[in-house]
Amino acid sequence: MAERTLTCRDCGNSFVFTEGEQEFFTMKGFSEPSRCPDCRAAHKRQRQGRDNREMSSPPRDRGTQESRGDRQLYEVECSECGTLTQVPFKPRGHSPVYCRTCFNNRR
Ligand SMILES: [Zn+2]
Ligand SMILES: [Zn+2]
Repeated sequence: MAERTLTCRDCGNSFVFTEGEQEFFTMKGFSEPSRCPDCRAAHKRQRQGRDNREMSSPPRDRGTQESRGDRQLYEVECSECGTLTQVPFKPRGHSPVYCRTCFNNRR
């Protein structure tokens, strides 16, 4: 692809349709621009709010709110009373883990 010079249908000025822009337009499935960048910007401003999706940035990642914080809980048996309890760390076999009740009782 090479740069092309197009003529604006609004103001009649010629403008350059760069390789990069051509690629972008092709990628998006847009037809080639019929207005110079100035007129495009002006046109866009006029209809702002209704349809300004053309040049907007990609949508933000969703799903970041699904996990509240990144603390993972591990279910373990309390070494004292055998109740299932959850701890925010990966329990190691040799160290005792206590449920909240037993943990408080031990202090
Ligand atoms: Zn123009
Ligand atoms: Zn316990």
